[in-house]
Amino acid sequence: MKFHQYIHDLPTYEVGKPLELVMREYGIQPDRIIKLGSNENPLGVSPSAKQVLMESASLASIYPDDSYHELKNSLSDLYGIQPSNIIIGSGSDQIIEFCVHAICDNTTKILMAKTTFAMYEIYAKHFGAKVIRTKDFLHNLDSMLSLYKKHKPSMIFLCTPNNPLGEALPKKEVMDFITQIDKECCIVLDCAYMEYCRYKNEEYAIYPKDIINFPNVIYLGTFSKIYGLGGMRIGYGIAHEKTISMLHKLRPPFNITTLSLKAATASLKDKDFLEQTLANNFTEMQRYISFAKQKSLQILESYANFITFLLHNKLNSTKIGILLLQEGIVVRNLESYGLNALRITIGTPEQNQIVLEKLSTIIEK
Ligand SMILES: *Cc1c(COP(=O)(O)O)cnc(C)c1O
Repeated sequence: MKFHQYIHDLPTYEVGKPLELVMREYGIQPDRIIKLGSNENPLGVSPSAKQVLMESASLASIYPDDSYHELKNSLSDLYGIQPSNIIIGSGSDQIIEFCVHAICDNTTKILMAKTTFAMYEIYAKHFGAKVIRTKDFLHNLDSMLSLYKKHKPSMIFLCTPNNPLGEALPKKEVMDFITQIDKECCIVLDCAYMEYCRYKNEEYAIYPKDIINFPNVIYLGTFSKIYGLGGMRIGYGIAHEKTISMLHKLRPPFNITTLSLKAATASLKDKDFLEQTLANNFTEMQRYISFAKQKSLQILESYANFITFLLHNKLNSTKIGILLLQEGIVVRNLESYGLNALRITIGTPEQNQIVLEKLSTIIEK
């Protein structure tokens, strides 16, 4: 049997360490593990979603309503758009795949920031597209524009707030950028952390409505981060109706589970849970900021639910990552992004207390 050459060459995405692995490798009980490596909601599943999941267990035997009518209606109400503007994916990851699949092949180029979500490049490679990156450390739309003019890519990824660095783009700059890009080029706006960003600073707040009339822009959202449903694998893309109907051609039937749909719909309505999550995130982030100041560590201003520490030469992110793991603390080492840096999801007050104590001990050794 012979596999395509490109499959041999594909990189694999390094995920945040799962609980089971930390248990096996370090012999730590699951209730003692502090999992802050994957930007999940530290408050867990919203109470409304949890209740719906328990009540709906018996529906697991039936296929979902493949129109995803109920969830699309809830999203339409939330964002003031139409159900025909929405596609639901098994995580927004699947929508990224649909976009690249629909537009790119081995004759096309994809433009993205130097340090951004690793899955963009992986999907680019699936379809043979060439990746072009800016040279700036953070997103820089001026550089993007000049590379766009030079290379004429068929797709551009903007991630705001950006994973794994946490920076965001002002809405005005994004809108100006969009108007300067030819309609032949697809712009994917990955807004996986946008709910946090909107709460922090209205000038950085982008809504699906802002882009819906541009036929070449796709807004991505997810239930994996603020909505606390990473394990349910559900996300969405919002765009012009014609764009969405093309992406739908690539969607396999029943790509979302019956229970995921129920949980996502319920979580959208649980405003108290969202408020608590946002308040916890930014109050607790302040502790990491003070800690960094106190210890003279460099951090990046974050608009998301994590904070990234850029370490100086005397500290090594891989070593610190392992020492933290031995204590049952999972954070994200950014070595695979070519950085001596750690990305830490903001946890509960109790979790952050422990993380900061351990981190303090480790860096003072
Ligand atoms: C987490 C994340 C996603 C999507 O996650 P899914 O679980 O597939 O919805 C997309 N983009 C970025 C930048 C992310 O951090």
